[in-house]
Amino acid sequence: MLSYFYTHDYRGPNLEKCDGGMLLDARVYAIADKYLIPDLRALAATRFEEGAQSQWSTPNFADAIDELYTERFVDNRKLREVVVEAVRNHATELFGGNQAYEKFVEVHDRTGEFSAACSKALALNMPRGSQATPGITYRCANSRCDMRFTTHGEPEYLTCPGSCGAVRHMDWWRQYCLERK
Ligand SMILES: [Zn+2]
Repeated sequence: MLSYFYTHDYRGPNLEKCDGGMLLDARVYAIADKYLIPDLRALAATRFEEGAQSQWSTPNFADAIDELYTERFVDNRKLREVVVEAVRNHATELFGGNQAYEKFVEVHDRTGEFSAACSKALALNMPRGSQATPGITYRCANSRCDMRFTTHGEPEYLTCPGSCGAVRHMDWWRQYCLERK
């Protein structure tokens, strides 16, 4: 705190040597939030974001996540979003079974709120093709339309993507199903 007021930064030459890293940033963020110091809070958030990019592969990342999701008295949603985004970007490595990420996996597995946030982020990130929904091809039997199209999932009503724009119940479309993949 004092170092911030003197230098407008909180990582002096000594702190840089210690590997507090993201954990330190998260703690400074919490203190700044508690004592209503918005400049310091913003600085800690920026540092934390930089840390997520450069330290996601180190144990600092797991320590920071552990801290963020056990801290109950600070609104640290912003930092939580940062770590979930980093997980989204490096999921293959982090969950790949490499021993280097053991600590991350351990924190992930025991922190329900964090693992739920990761699942959501990863599910939304999945390209359509990799989802398990089969593609079904229909032919539009509306007068002179004859549009052929493939769709995923079965809503109650389906709109023809062709120029006819017919909205029909799935019972109707099922009669004109050409192919299921
Ligand atoms: Zn049509």
